[in-house]
Parts: sequence; C-alpha cells; structure tokens
Amino acid sequence: MTPISFEFYPPKTEDQRAQLDKTARRLATRAPQYVSCTFGAGGSTLTHTPDTVRHLREAHALDAAPHLSCVGGTRAEIGALLETYRTLGCRRLVTLRGDLPSGMARAGELRYASELVEFIRDQTGDAFHIEVAAYPETHPQARDAHADLRHFVDKVRAGADGAITQYFFNADAYFRFVDDVRVLGVDVPIVPGIMPIANFSQLRRFSDLCGAEIPRWIGQRMAAFGDDAASVRDFATDVVAALCDRLVRGGAPGLHFYTLNLARPTLNVLDRLAL
Ligand code: FAD
Repeated sequence: MTPISFEFYPPKTEDQRAQLDKTARRLATRAPQYVSCTFGAGGSTLTHTPDTVRHLREAHALDAAPHLSCVGGTRAEIGALLETYRTLGCRRLVTLRGDLPSGMARAGELRYASELVEFIRDQTGDAFHIEVAAYPETHPQARDAHADLRHFVDKVRAGADGAITQYFFNADAYFRFVDDVRVLGVDVPIVPGIMPIANFSQLRRFSDLCGAEIPRWIGQRMAAFGDDAASVRDFATDVVAALCDRLVRGGAPGLHFYTLNLARPTLNVLDRLAL
C-alpha cells in the first residue's frame, strides 16, 4: 500500500478554520501516514503553524508535521519553534528556506535550507525526521540545473531523512531527478508532491511563481472545455490520477498531496486510483 500524506495551510479566519476542519475530517478517512502544515515567514504568522499543528493533532488525531522555514527568522526564533514542536509530540518536520513575503526585508540568520537542517540536527539531534524540498524541474532561482542538484545533495548530507518534491505534471522529470541524485550518492526516499487540479487559472499563477511546467496539451484541453465544469473536473482528475499511477508503478515511495485545504479534488484522484 503506497503511503499518502496531505498538506494543509494554516487558516486565518473562522470560515477558513471551518473549511480545514471539514477537509481534515474527510481526508482522515484515507488513513494518511501524516499531514503537514505550511509555514509563512515572519511576524504574527509565526504562531499560525504551531496553532494549526496542535489543532490537527488534538482535534483530529492526525500525525501533523509542521513546515519550518529559515528565511526572515533568527536562530532563537527557530529554536523556540523546535521546542514547541517537541512539546506537541511532533516527530517530523518539513524543512525549507522559504520565500520572503513581498515587502518584507529581513533576511534571516540562516541562508539556505541546508543550513537550517544543520542547525536542527545540532540543536535537537535525532529528535525529528527531517524532510526537505526537491525540484524535479529545477528551483526557479537556481544558477543552473546541475548547481540545484548539488544543493539538493547538500541538504541531504546535512541530515535530511527524505524529500518531498515540488509538484509537476511530467513524470519523466521526477524519474530523471531521482536517477541523477542516486548517482550523486543520495539514497533517501523522494516522495512526489501532487497537485490535484481544482482551479486552473490559480494553478497557472502558482506554477509561474514556483517554476512548475503545465504541459501545453493540458492547458489546451482545459481551455477547450470552457465553462463545462463537470468535464474540466473529470479531465483534471484523469490527468492527475494517471500521473500518480505512473509514479507509483515506477517506484515512487509515497504520494504527498497539496490539498489547498480542499478535500474533493484530492478524494477524486484517490478514488480513481483506488489507493
Ligand atoms: P534551498 O534548498 O535553500 O534552495 C533555494 C535556492 O538556493 C535554490 O535555487 C538552490 O539551488 C539555491 N542554493 C541552495 N544552497 C545554495 C548555496 N550553498 N549556494 C548557492 N545557492 C544555493 N515555502 C514556504 O514559505 N512555506 C512552506 O511551508 C513551504 N512548503 C514547501 C513544501 C514543499 C514540499 C516544497 C517543494 C516547497 C515549499 N515551499 C514553502 C517553497 C520553498 O520555500 C521555496 O521553493 C523556496 O524558494 C526554496 O526553499 P528550499 O527549501 O528549496 O531552499
């Protein structure tokens, strides 16, 4: 049975909290290995992730893992968060450099995710299973694809136990990435990140920002369906389920779903896959 995990973001309003509760209840029925909760750099957002992780653990009995980024943060702030997560019983972290929100100038004391992984290992030893991010289609700020592969290897050498990829729609990019880093000596599991398609124009905007390529044929088919929401949904489910199927058959060690706090698009894919 392929392990699955679900990613949520921390809700900030009452409506968003109710939405997350509904989504968590529905997705909990699929017995995820764990769920994760994203982290936004800086200021008041510092408390949103720990609060959500606590809620998911206590109200939904889910093994909730926080994302933790170093951009814009100090060692002291990161150390305090690590202590909070230990107290909450968390045993897994998704560890990132992060991106500064526009307009926020504070750089932070650690520059790259590899430095954050090193810091966490230094402060907490083996208390946490550490996941890092991987980019089968290359991180958008990388000098070049080979430098990005080497920097990925640095994160694993710094002490990561596994990786979750940025989402992609081209399975070959994932298989190639895994082959390349195996040659460089990386043997940790690399779990593909899966983006069920809920809102195509939003997906286009996200993809431009994070460097994920939407194949032209998917865009063309989506455009041709126009306002026919049922056909769009059906096609999107088919495309993502076929991708998951190919990844699992090709040896992917799990599937990590970017839910955007919605249950239905992820459930549609899981139902079609019969996982
Ligand atoms: P890094 O691994 O530090 O890499 C960042 C860039 O720096 C890359 O281009 C890399 O090639 C380059 N680099 C690394 N080391 C060096 C070096 N020594 N010298 C020169 N260049 C170097 N963002 C959030 O803000 N919050 C989240 O919760 C969040 N969750 C995510 C979850 C997953 C699974 C993924 C895939 C991404 C997530 N992101 C999140 C986005 C992520 O923070 C951004 O993609 C960010 O721009 C890079 O983070 P990273 O950890 O990959 O950085």
